[in-house]
Formats: sequence, structure tokens, C-alpha cells
Amino acid sequence: MVYDDIIIGSGLAALGTAVGLGPSRKVLILGGPEKAELEFYSDQKSIPCSYPGFGGLGNFWHGVVSTAIEAPYAQESRKELVELFKYFYPRTSIQERIGQPWLFVPRQPVRPRREWARLSRERGGNLHFLPLLTDRFEIGDSGSTVFAGAETFRSRRLWIAAGAINSPKILATSISPGLRRAFVSDHIICYAGQLEQRAPEFSPPRVERTSEGFWLAFEFSSDGGALLTRRPARFDYRRLDHGIEQRAIFGLPTNSAIARLLKTTSPGLVAEGLFNKFGLFPNSRVLSVYAQIFVRDALQFLREDVPPTPVIESEAQAVARLSLPWPALVKTRRPDLFLRGIHLHHSIDLDALDAAGLSSEQSMVRVVDASAISQIGPEHHSFYAMARAYRLSRQVVS
Ligand SMILES: Cc1cc2nc3c(=O)[nH]c(=O)nc-3n(C[C@H](O)[C@H](O)[C@H](O)COP(=O)(O)OP(=O)(O)OC[C@H]3O[C@@H](n4cnc5c(N)ncnc54)[C@H](O)[C@@H]3O)c2cc1C
Repeated sequence: MVYDDIIIGSGLAALGTAVGLGPSRKVLILGGPEKAELEFYSDQKSIPCSYPGFGGLGNFWHGVVSTAIEAPYAQESRKELVELFKYFYPRTSIQERIGQPWLFVPRQPVRPRREWARLSRERGGNLHFLPLLTDRFEIGDSGSTVFAGAETFRSRRLWIAAGAINSPKILATSISPGLRRAFVSDHIICYAGQLEQRAPEFSPPRVERTSEGFWLAFEFSSDGGALLTRRPARFDYRRLDHGIEQRAIFGLPTNSAIARLLKTTSPGLVAEGLFNKFGLFPNSRVLSVYAQIFVRDALQFLREDVPPTPVIESEAQAVARLSLPWPALVKTRRPDLFLRGIHLHHSIDLDALDAAGLSSEQSMVRVVDASAISQIGPEHHSFYAMARAYRLSRQVVS
């Protein structure tokens, strides 16, 4: 059988692609095995960078959606962002927030497993899943042939959404090793310091609730390179720098993070955790300021069989460039402490992708995840990347 579309991957980018493809097409999802081992950054064993199993990192993400859409790739998918958000959160309006610095923190993040089940119910026999890892593909005159273990599948169009670590591997094996970059870009999250109530620029974080989550206002740093959030600092978290080490817990998969949060003996961590998850108790005499910073080439990714290794100089330079709009901020004394942002992207050489004929609208093979996005800016990128995938697949249908 020749499918209309094969999608490699079952994470958020694959899901955005499938939603965009529409119900009449015969679609095969090669989604990776049902269960897999989490893969970690080489030096931080508490923070996952890849999950090559069903649903990908979407099983663990916090679901935060940004709305400022500063980066060009996000602006291109402005309309699709609104449509896709409505598909997942029909009772929350995003339209009037677009172009404004807000974060949507959902009660229920988009979980691929649940959403694939919904799509399967809607699409019936036209959506077919196989829990297989793809090895490689070949492009022919009338479509692609995909090889997965001992099996072979054919389709008119192929969508690659195997994630920032795995999509380049599939392209390198199928087309040319030159498509895989030796670096991957990312965000880091660092603690910038504290604002106290007596500071002239002090104001508590703005929170607006909906039935599906809450909106949290953010600021950009003076140079636009970082996304700044203020969060209540209570109890032990009022001590400058005390919280940043414990804050590492939020890099963990959500379920275990909450379980560990409940066991923690730090009331400051519990208070910040309740704010982060539910927007509770924003008013506090002291505020912690966190910065999410874009770091180009944050990790070196020389060999496919070894996890990416942090490039310390890139990260240190990004932290040193941080320019804050509040003169009265009590600055951290530990700029060396930060968390990796889990927002891996730009692992494919975009010029090489173009030269291989895989970036045009007519191409039968498209890379739809963040591995083919170069400049994500400081905002959370995953929902923007989903909206881009949704836009690219809709172009084929329309
Ligand atoms: C704890 C945590 C919190 C996060 N919070 C946020 C947040 O609030 N906001 C935000 O924007 N981002 C967040 N992220 C990042 C977000 O989770 C990822 O950017 C996003 O899930 C990436 O989706 P993806 O589909 O591109 O790739 P992945 O999730 O990596 O999915 C890749 C898919 O490809 C499959 N696959 C891999 N190799 C193969 C192969 N050879 N053959 C077939 N299938 C294959 C896998 O099984 C998987 O289904 C968070 C991440 C973590 C870990």
C-alpha cells in the first residue's frame, strides 16, 4: 500500500503535522517504540534531552506556550498558532495576546498519547500507527520509501519529526552526513537575582486565570536576548541564591518533579512550585527573577552515539551578555549556576538541507521539528514549532 503521508515520530511536532493533514489522507505514523530510555545531557543527569519512545519529550513537557512571537519562524505561523491553540484549548482565547509578552501555563499540557487517541477516534482507519524506529529513507520519482527494521513502507510525502537529536541522524544516513550539524542550540535558565518591595520598579507578577490554566506576563531583557519572569520568593528562597540549586528539580519530568516537590523540606521551593504550576500566591515581599536565554551552539554533538556535550564558553558568554531593565535588582552572586533549557533546536545544516532540495514547499520530504529552525529567540519554542509543522502540512492539503 502507498500512503499519502508517512510521519516519522509521535511527539509534538508529529502531532502538529498530523492535525494539519486533514482527515481524508491515508497517514502512517512511525512513532518510535512504545517505551524507551530517557536520554540526558552528558553532564546533568537530572535533565532529559531526548526520549526516543512514543510521544517523545511531549510526555514530560510543562506545556508552556509563549505569545510574543518575536522570532521570524513564529511570525510566519501566526494564524496557525491561533488555530492550533484553539484546537487544544477551546475555552481560552489567545488572539488578543498575540504579539504581547505572555506565557500560557496550562493545567493539562498537550500530551501526545492522549491527543493521538483523540485523532485516531476522529480519523478512524485513515490514521495508522506502528511502534517502529526508522533507519533511513530513499526518495524516488513518485514518493519515498522508508526502511524500519525489516519493514519497508511507501508514501507520496514524508514528514520527519524525530526530534532535534534523532532527525539529523536519519537525514545523515539517508541523504548525506553533511546535513547533521556538529552543534545544537538551546536555552539556559539562570537566576538573575532578587527584587525587593522597596525597589521603585517592584511589582508582583501579573497573573490572569482561565478555566484551562493561567496567563503569566513576562519581560524581555534590555537587549531582547532573554525572557525574564518574576516569581515569589518566600521562606528560605528569600536568601539570595539559595533557590537556584533546588530549582534544578523543575528540569525533571513533571510527575516526578511534583512527587519530589511534595517530599521536599524547603517551604520556599514548595511556594515557588505552587506558583509555577498553578499561579498561586503571586504577591510576595521579595521576588526571584529568572532569565531564559537563547544560546547558539550551546552543545557540541560530534558523534551520534554520544549525548551532546555543553559548550561552556557559549553558555558563559550568553550569561555575561544578560542586561536587565531593573537598576535596583539585587544581582546573583552565582552566575555560574544555571539549568539547561531542554529546548534543543538547529541540529541540521539549513544550507545543506536547502541544497538537497528539502526546504521547498514542493519537496516530497520535509523536516517539521525544531532541528530545522535556527533562531528561536528567548521564547519557549515548542508550540511555535508545532504551529509551523501544522502550517507546512496544511499547505499540502490546501
Ligand atoms: C521537563 C520538560 C519540560 C519542558 N517544558 C516545555 C515548555 O513548557 N514549553 C516548551 O515550549 N517546551 C518545553 N519542553 C521542550 C519540549 O518538550 C520539546 O521541545 C518537544 O517535546 C519536542 O518535540 P518534538 O516532537 O520535536 O521531538 P521529541 O519530543 O524529541 O519527539 C521525537 C519523536 O520521534 C520519535 N523518534 C525518534 N527517533 C525515531 C526514529 N528513528 N524512528 C521513528 N521515530 C523516532 C520518538 O519516539 C518521538 O516520538 C520541555 C521539555 C522537558 C523535558
